[in-house]
Amino acid sequence: MAGVQAFVGLGANLGDPRRQVLQALQSLDRLPNTRLVARSSLYRTAPVDATGPDYVNAVAALETALPPLALLRALQAIEQLHGRERSTANAPRTLDLDLLLYGGRRIDEPELRVPHPRLHQRAFVLRPLLELAPDLEAPGLGPIVNWLDKTKHQVVQIIDDRGGLP
Ligand code: AMP
Repeated sequence: MAGVQAFVGLGANLGDPRRQVLQALQSLDRLPNTRLVARSSLYRTAPVDATGPDYVNAVAALETALPPLALLRALQAIEQLHGRERSTANAPRTLDLDLLLYGGRRIDEPELRVPHPRLHQRAFVLRPLLELAPDLEAPGLGPIVNWLDKTKHQVVQIIDDRGGLP
């Protein structure tokens, strides 16, 4: 498959968050024209700007031949599949998937902004991303590692060290 390297952020804080994230990783690997190349460890993080249970977060590295918007829609379909446990329409979702990076592309459309606009502000994204790709650079942001220091007040705890293996 001649694909692009894309990174997807996963987060869940309802139901069984660890299970939600692990199942979502499997779903990512089953997407058409897409391969799960690696996944980060799982991280436990306190909610940012919100109350509620802790989140479980991870980042997946994909190789995909899906165009960016098709990939976004596929991520939303996976979210919907996992959304059945929502108590009300506006309740927090059991699963949140963000398209963090799509190759070296910069996308600024109403429906899709890449790099993800808050990527560099969140330790729960930066830490797993750097675990998979320590030298990663993002368009407009430069080396990702340079942003880590600004998020060091955010509490992120590694709960499952898989060393980047799928
Ligand atoms: P959220 O509720 O924070 O997951 O935001 C979902 C909305 O963000 C959807 O309407 C998407 O179209 C939009 N969006 C824009 N850029 C992205 C991105 N890079 N990844 C995921 N959703 C995005």
